[in-house]
Amino acid sequence: MQSDVRTITILGATGSIGLSTLDVVARHPGRYRVFALSAHRQADALAQLCLRHAPRYAVLGDAAAAGTVRARLAAAGCHTEVLCGEAALAEVAAHPQVDTVMAAIVGAAGLAPAIAAARAGKRILLANKESLVMAGEVFLRACRDGGATVLPIDSEHNAIFQCLPPGQGTGSAAPGVRRILLTASGGPFRRASAAEMARATPEQACAHPNWSMGRKISVDSATMMNKGLELIEASYLFGLPESRLGVIVHPQSIVHSMVEYEDGSTLAQLGNPDMRTPIAHALAHPERIDSGVAPLSLATIGRLEFEEPDMQRFPCLRLAHEALRAGGAAPCALNAANEVAVAAFLDRRLRFTDIACVAEAALQAVGSRAAGVDVDEVLEIDREARSVARRQLSRCAA
Ligand code: NDP
Ligand code: MG
Repeated sequence: MQSDVRTITILGATGSIGLSTLDVVARHPGRYRVFALSAHRQADALAQLCLRHAPRYAVLGDAAAAGTVRARLAAAGCHTEVLCGEAALAEVAAHPQVDTVMAAIVGAAGLAPAIAAARAGKRILLANKESLVMAGEVFLRACRDGGATVLPIDSEHNAIFQCLPPGQGTGSAAPGVRRILLTASGGPFRRASAAEMARATPEQACAHPNWSMGRKISVDSATMMNKGLELIEASYLFGLPESRLGVIVHPQSIVHSMVEYEDGSTLAQLGNPDMRTPIAHALAHPERIDSGVAPLSLATIGRLEFEEPDMQRFPCLRLAHEALRAGGAAPCALNAANEVAVAAFLDRRLRFTDIACVAEAALQAVGSRAAGVDVDEVLEIDREARSVARRQLSRCAA
């Protein structure tokens, strides 16, 4: 039925989550209509997606890339209107004809359009964990004020959402919950020595054993900063303090997280490690649709293993626990410094093991401030933490 068609904007369409979202959407042509797609610089990739999905709008990060896409689409007779810049991202996220926004831009750049979607009362499929980490309270307030719904895409948070009582909103603790346990694969360096990690290359860090993801989150998985950011994300989404959130390493990535209840029950969600499952879950919620993911065969997998995380070899995880306990500006500072450090590592300007030193320096310099009360204040903390991080980079390189 036409009235049941959901109209969707996909921010970060050319990325790993964006492409998985389009894969699920394309399996259900009567259910979803693609309204807008965005990319930063990958003009060719976005043009291809526009030719395939015929959105009303395409948004790029800069004018040159937008010009390339415009010319390509005009030559092919495609009527997608091509826009560029941050204001256009916010516009397609908040457009009255859109009901669902997939927030899958990587990093702090995802905050402003996510806030625009929140204020406009959209169903937000939130992959961009960085916007919650840097501005959890500001973002959730914008959701409440605008009447927006948040559906978590991060596989752990989506799993937890599925294990909580139905109707549980974001930001408040569900009754009867004792603790939430996030599972972590341990990443490519789960068994590596400190010396091996000090020599790690971007190629090694991005070669995740179970998941295929963008480069930034792949490095975060290798340092386990990703799990740290996810602890902070979980604290905001599910209204629990650091003392009631835990991490357990589970190398097979089959159990995606667990909720422990007061009565001794632990509920878990299981599935093959493929982001199309949480994406399909959030797209169709509360219904269930085919995601294209193969059914789980536990007999083939044979064993599910669990172990404690090693905070010595993975200091980023310890820093995230500290930032969450400290609250205030600490999570925002941690996230900003981590982005600077990961970019430098990917650029071969920083050793893998120095990512934690850069993050720690920003936490010490900026982390004890009060949290930003609005987006401008959050961005100011983000800027200051980045400048501390850049200074620390040159010390590490020396
Ligand atoms: P990718 O790097 O694969 O894709 C990022 C997307 O964001 C691309 O479309 C990219 O455009 C766009 N983009 C990059 N920088 C900017 C910018 N400054 N302004 C606007 N758009 C920008 O990332 P992932 O898909 O892996 O991750 C996206 C988000 O989802 C992250 O926050 C990540 O933490 C989260 N996430 C990802 C998971 C995964 O499995 N990949 C799992 C759980 C969470 P272009 O292609 O033009 O550069
Ligand atoms: Mg995750």
